[in-house]
Amino acid sequence: MAEKPDSSAACKECGGAGYVVEQVVGSPARARRCACQATCPRCGGSGYFMVTSGPGRVAQACDCRHLDQRIATFNAAAIPAAVARASFENFRPWSQSQSKARAACENFAHQVRSDRASRGVLLHGKPGCGKTHLLAASLRWLALEKGVSCRYVEFMLLLSDIRAGFGSNRGHMEILGPLANVPVLAIDELGKERGTEWERSMLDELISRRYNAGLTTIFATNYPRDPQPVPVPVGGKHHTASKEFQRDAEVLSLEERVGQRIYSRLNEMCDFVQLEGPDYRKDAEPGRGSFWR
Ligand SMILES: [Zn+2]
Ligand SMILES: [Zn+2]
Repeated sequence: MAEKPDSSAACKECGGAGYVVEQVVGSPARARRCACQATCPRCGGSGYFMVTSGPGRVAQACDCRHLDQRIATFNAAAIPAAVARASFENFRPWSQSQSKARAACENFAHQVRSDRASRGVLLHGKPGCGKTHLLAASLRWLALEKGVSCRYVEFMLLLSDIRAGFGSNRGHMEILGPLANVPVLAIDELGKERGTEWERSMLDELISRRYNAGLTTIFATNYPRDPQPVPVPVGGKHHTASKEFQRDAEVLSLEERVGQRIYSRLNEMCDFVQLEGPDYRKDAEPGRGSFWR
């Protein structure tokens, strides 16, 4: 059997990966076969090549078939355009906690298998510290490197879709169902919703179904794990701060935002990983890996 020609190693466009991810305004991330793989050097595009087996020759499936499947898996993940090209390699941490968060996500992505339950990660930290980038990078790795089916969803947008579905007589399970069953789901902006009874029941249903089925879920939230100190109003007295002072939603903890029951499930399903918010030094570049560099 001829050696597999190594024509992709020198490819400047894909660096040898065989695929290229495109970032198109207003549409989810899409990958395509790189031009260097337009005609597979091994099978000529047929998807099979012949190998000697005993006295005869048999057809064997070519690896490039996996490439197309993985590209299709990635394209079904619905990674938002803003982080379409986000990967572990182009995540540039500027704090130790961000380096640790990347390592935690990489470790997670490397050990996930679609046939058994894996502990997820829950990234928490202030906006702009790279949580969505790391969710997207994890999904990219899972889809393109491992062929594991996965989906990204921003929880608030999911709620809007469910509400819109009611108008066209679509039950909530029509929208929630595929997300409840996908092997790996990334839920972004957890806790940002208003926290009404209905919103909580939707979140509870999604998380409970995934929990019961042993499916892997990763999360990102702007809300801290522990309750934050309540700011004392100017001129206010300390003893009034705890109950009477109207707490700003931003200082609520994740547990207060999602409720005890869901919070307890999150603890069972995930390792919590904190990203320290950017300190906005002049060298910090929020939104790296997105359009907005
Ligand atoms: Zn290429
Ligand atoms: Zn091939």
